[in-house]
Amino acid sequence: MVIFKTVPDISALLRKGKVEGGIGYVPTMGALHDGHLSLIERSNRENEITVCSIFVNPTQFNDKSDFEKYPVKLEDDIALLINAGCDILFLPTVEEVYPSGADLKKYQLGTLETLWEGKYRAGHFQGVCQVMDRFLNIIQPDKLYLGQKDYQQCMVIQKLINLSGFNITLTICATVREESGLAMSSRNMRLSEKSKEAAIAIFGSLVYIKENINTTSVELMKDSINKNLLNSGFNSIDYIAICNAETLENIIEFNPSTPTVALIAAFIDGVRLIDNMLIS
Ligand code: AMP
Repeated sequence: MVIFKTVPDISALLRKGKVEGGIGYVPTMGALHDGHLSLIERSNRENEITVCSIFVNPTQFNDKSDFEKYPVKLEDDIALLINAGCDILFLPTVEEVYPSGADLKKYQLGTLETLWEGKYRAGHFQGVCQVMDRFLNIIQPDKLYLGQKDYQQCMVIQKLINLSGFNITLTICATVREESGLAMSSRNMRLSEKSKEAAIAIFGSLVYIKENINTTSVELMKDSINKNLLNSGFNSIDYIAICNAETLENIIEFNPSTPTVALIAAFIDGVRLIDNMLIS
């Protein structure tokens, strides 16, 4: 695996069209786990070259302490990427990505920015677009691999691809879970063993919604999930959403023929966890 730290170096190597079998790209913030590695493996299968980036993007953190506490495990990450067969790691500094005076664009994301993650993490998706716009321009991949774990982020990045006119195919990969059902996340490293066990309640809630949405009203379902999460040890809940999987607008009544997704964001032990499940 070759590691590049500067934009001119990686750009010189990656010129679109030069790689016949295609370039696959997996953006990450590091502290890699099997969820990230599943994206690398998928890209490896479908492209001649796989590029991964590790960059903890300051502009997408609305909470400074969340940014400061974000786990950094660079040596382990490099070993995992080599083992997974990743070809290129892009590892830029903040100054490299945002040279002083860099103009931070504003993106028209519509309701994606006011609903759910957009509402509870003001400015987060603008930061995601700023860094992804920059990285997609630098790497110019043919295919981009993202995890369903960040459902709304996948929608935002697809919108960015459309807005910016990139010729890139987005593949959304299934969420990789611990045996317990807990969605793998770099943030899980900050949980105590006890909280990690309690955090399974998010997955349990999503399964419960999927299996029982037909038997009760959407509002009663959300109320009962709210109580269950708090009883299980969650300290606070940002949202429990049962919504249209394409627009993310709340649904009033469940209709099995409308694509529907359940999304949850909640805090446990001071750590904010998100998860989701398609329920029809
Ligand atoms: P992050 O490092 O958290 O920014 O995540 C980098 C990429 O890995 C994003 O596309 C995430 O959606 C994806 N990802 C994170 N956790 C998982 C998981 N448990 N399963 C599958 N993909 C994941």
